Amino acid sequence: MSEENSATRSNFITDIIDEHLENGRFDHVHTRFPPEPNGYLHIGHAKSICLNFGIAEAYGGKTNLRFDDTNPTKEEVEYVESIQEDIRWLGFDWEDRLFFASDYFDAFYEYAIQLIKQDAAYVCDLSADELRQYRGTLTEPGKNSPYRDRSVEENLDLFERMKNGEFPDGSKTLRARIDMSSPNLNMRDPVLYRILHADHHNTGDKWCIYPMYDYAHGLSDSLEHITHSICTLEFEDHRPLYDWILDQLDVFHPQQIEFARLNLTHTVMSKRKLLQLVREGFVSGWDDPRMPTLSGMRRRGYTPQAIRNFVDVVGVSKANSIVDVELLEHVLRDDLNERARRVMAVLEPLRVIIDNYPEEQEEAFEIPYFPYQDDSPIRQVPFSKEIFIERTDFMEDPPKKFYRLAPGREVRLMNAYYITCTEVVKDDDGNVVELHAEYDPESRGGMSPDGRKVRGTLHWVSARHALSAELRLYDYLFSKADPYEVPEGGDFTDNVNPESLQVLSDAKLEPSLKEAGVYEPFQFMRQGYFCADADSAPGALIFNRTISLVDTWAKMQRGN
Ligand code: ATP
Ligand code: MG
Repeated sequence: MSEENSATRSNFITDIIDEHLENGRFDHVHTRFPPEPNGYLHIGHAKSICLNFGIAEAYGGKTNLRFDDTNPTKEEVEYVESIQEDIRWLGFDWEDRLFFASDYFDAFYEYAIQLIKQDAAYVCDLSADELRQYRGTLTEPGKNSPYRDRSVEENLDLFERMKNGEFPDGSKTLRARIDMSSPNLNMRDPVLYRILHADHHNTGDKWCIYPMYDYAHGLSDSLEHITHSICTLEFEDHRPLYDWILDQLDVFHPQQIEFARLNLTHTVMSKRKLLQLVREGFVSGWDDPRMPTLSGMRRRGYTPQAIRNFVDVVGVSKANSIVDVELLEHVLRDDLNERARRVMAVLEPLRVIIDNYPEEQEEAFEIPYFPYQDDSPIRQVPFSKEIFIERTDFMEDPPKKFYRLAPGREVRLMNAYYITCTEVVKDDDGNVVELHAEYDPESRGGMSPDGRKVRGTLHWVSARHALSAELRLYDYLFSKADPYEVPEGGDFTDNVNPESLQVLSDAKLEPSLKEAGVYEPFQFMRQGYFCADADSAPGALIFNRTISLVDTWAKMQRGN
């Protein structure tokens, strides 16, 4: 196994694979990622994608993308497309191995006939309610269906007529004939096929019987010669059924391996819940930057590498847990810190007029995008008589530890000049509307001319050259760490954070940001990481704040 791919550094899954390669059960590794196209992919899926593709890659193997589209009623083409886009964006490639479980409907049907012929499956007339009653509970065994001993001939006939549409929805099922007293409820004659007169996105009206997940999934794995079928922990109890079906049919037999799902604080991770947020208008869509979907995270400014690094850091385990979302943010900041160009933007502008700077004069400072890097690329930042500074960088009556601008106080404009505030202009209500200042021409580049020190260094934007932009600042979509913690009768949507989106409509950006590509990461110095939104256009710029600069996770690790 290659060492570079730390996503797949050795863990209990690779231990199992190593054993299989050693004992000769398999001589290669072939995995699959099997999404159901009933929603957009989220960060939890990213973990599964990184595992499946990462592990195969580490062993020089292959990974299939297979849409698990056996449920005709909830699936949509929009999802089929978004899922492919998101996997590619993460940087994984299924090459020519794109499959649909629905492509195997004919094969599944033939296998069902084989099971019937082996007396391993039967047609049952119990209703859904009766099925539940006959099933028993964890403490009580189930009861045999009165239809359990139908002859092979009768079962073959009835199953064919189910397929031909002779019976209404729910009136019959095909069930495996296993053991109604098994301690494992999944083994109590589970349903393999149900009747559903519904159109399917791929097969149209060809079928009115549809295979159940447990039946279709293992057989799809087998048909594709998947060696290791990696899935989440809730399928552990289904593994005996997975194995039973493949053993009965004596077909290629992959190994199912379960790992713990990814859960995050302040986040819901079920497609059903995410769909509810979209439908009920809590967010603007599946790709709203507050959503934990890959499309939302992309729009927010996450890089694929940040997500992959996060999955790496979290690792794989067999025990369910909830990861603190601040760890995700910490990994994100680490990644953006490496790649984001540093620029100046003023979120809430306050105009400063430099009285002793000539009206017509303009100059440009050459400022490196990466101030701490020797060979950093450089851009020109214009300077003129009127500039904007951050409203929060000025206080008329500052408290002791406020080192920024105040009346009579001198500060450094980053990479430009020292200025001293000489006058505060207010409106009739007493609000500060603009400041006057004087600059020291000898301090060009922000250097002290005579060794005198200033405490504050402010970012700024030349008013004449500034680009106006809308900024969208995001906070957690759910105020509670556990969004499902609601009083009796409540819904998780009660925990939606009413302040999860704050819009600043008149931010001022340095002109170089005109060239910013959609999703290209920038650090707005002293403010945070931002990227241009997909809806941003020349003259109507929109930037999303990906994440602020403060790293509470790192602070916590340092213990302060
Ligand atoms: P959801 O509960 O969000 O609807 P799902 O499991 O129904 O998810 P699928 O489309 O069936 O969604 O999932 C495709 C693959 O992604 C499966 O192998 C599933 O186990 C895995 N997966 C889904 N959610 C997570 C998660 N939170 N962490 C890790 N893997 C996940
Ligand atoms: Mg599912």
